[in-house]
Amino acid sequence: MLGTEIVKINATEILDSRANPTVFCKVTLACGAQGCAAVPSGASRGKNEAFEKRDGGERFGGRGVEDVCRRMERELFKNINGADAANQKMLDGLLLRADGFEDKRNYGANALLAVSLACARATAQAYDLPLYRYLGGIYGNYMPTPMMNVLNGGAHAANNIDIQEFMLVPTGASCYKEGVRMCAEIYALLRTMFKKAGLSVGVGDEGGFAPDLGGDEEAVKYLCEAIDKAGYSDKVKIALDIAASEWVKDGNYVLPKKGTTLTADAIIEEFSHWAEKYPIISFEDPVGEEDVQAWMDITGALGNKAMLVGDDLFVTDAHRIDVGAKEGYANSVLIKPNQTGTLSETFAAIHSARKAGYKLIISHRSGDTSDDFISDLAVAVCADFIKAGAPARGERVAKYNRILEIEKEVNSSCF
Ligand code: PGA
Ligand code: ZN
Repeated sequence: MLGTEIVKINATEILDSRANPTVFCKVTLACGAQGCAAVPSGASRGKNEAFEKRDGGERFGGRGVEDVCRRMERELFKNINGADAANQKMLDGLLLRADGFEDKRNYGANALLAVSLACARATAQAYDLPLYRYLGGIYGNYMPTPMMNVLNGGAHAANNIDIQEFMLVPTGASCYKEGVRMCAEIYALLRTMFKKAGLSVGVGDEGGFAPDLGGDEEAVKYLCEAIDKAGYSDKVKIALDIAASEWVKDGNYVLPKKGTTLTADAIIEEFSHWAEKYPIISFEDPVGEEDVQAWMDITGALGNKAMLVGDDLFVTDAHRIDVGAKEGYANSVLIKPNQTGTLSETFAAIHSARKAGYKLIISHRSGDTSDDFISDLAVAVCADFIKAGAPARGERVAKYNRILEIEKEVNSSCF
């Protein structure tokens, strides 16, 4: 050991981008190295996500995490005191054993993940390595393609749009930096277009615009027009996060804002139509998380033309991904470390996704902080994409900017 034994943890209640409290953890190792991590929080959560612990009571309407932090320092710490932070798998095993519940309801996945990630950062510092290099070794040299959410709807915005996310994907960019620039230029054009049309340019939770429009399809048309105007029609495609689990009601799909009731078949037909008409390359959670038949059907209809991404469907769970691969539904996975609760379980989910030949997207949450761990993670595991919201708002651009820094570092050290 290089003095990588854990000697102290500090846990602090901080705020996330929605003014909700969240956990910030600092881990100190015997050699003096320190690592920090802040955990994010979702609004359209999958049913099977790991448990997010809150204090209850009066403070913050019950959403406080002061007790969670106190228990991390006083109780959870005893279980990892002196453990080697450089042995991530063993450390995460200790955290899981200390919790004792499959859904992590004892300390909460938010508490466990904060410690797990902070330990990885502290160890990287002890080894004097950038985080992506520590996590990915000498293979971690490939930048993901950004998926930038420029128009918000669903649970992330107070407008009349039912689809949650409309994203730009610069698949034809020559490098990561160029892709970021293209998306930022299109975002600026969208603002001008909305202003000119007398529409709101206020933003939703992830920094995308959130105007009221004539319908969800009009949002896709706006994106197409902005891409066209920017001159990137052959280089920038569209991805959607439908977040359709939010629509499920009594065995049907009820669009919460429009109030329309749809069957799964009607949804699949509509999206098949859109995939022909528009440059849409990816549909995330296009049907409900428990509607396996609909997942089978849409994979049959669109699986060889577009990415069908399981977010609520897989909840970053290796076993659920294995089942999806075996049964033949979805072809891509969204990875959110806080859906599972430790870095090792996140790696297990990534491994399952790779084994299945699924595309890999590393993702933020709608309530997030300036923590940029997922950026280093995306480079380390050579993820295909990173989804971190709009090219606007501090907690979103922190992730994109970190990869700009990594790309420059990797390129300058190569040739
Ligand atoms: P959430 O949304 O962070 O609010 O769950 C993000 C997503 O559904 O991808
Ligand atoms: Zn999603």
